[in-house]
Amino acid sequence: MSTKKTKGPPSCPACGTSNSVIPIIFGYPGQSLMEEAQSAEVALAGCEVNEVEPSHVCKRCGDEFGEQRFGD
Ligand SMILES: [Zn+2]
Repeated sequence: MSTKKTKGPPSCPACGTSNSVIPIIFGYPGQSLMEEAQSAEVALAGCEVNEVEPSHVCKRCGDEFGEQRFGD
């Protein structure tokens, strides 16, 4: 369990960059999210989710990391 709070995008644990890290959005995207995805500000992961999914993806090296929980 991590209790630290950080602002701004996290750094990629694989390559260390924070400039290319974008949040991963699950579920059905609205229009504004679609536009953000097209400009590569977010990654859309679709509607099928597991209980725990990565929260961010690095566009530079492709590493997915972090954690977001779904269910209940
Ligand atoms: Zn990376």
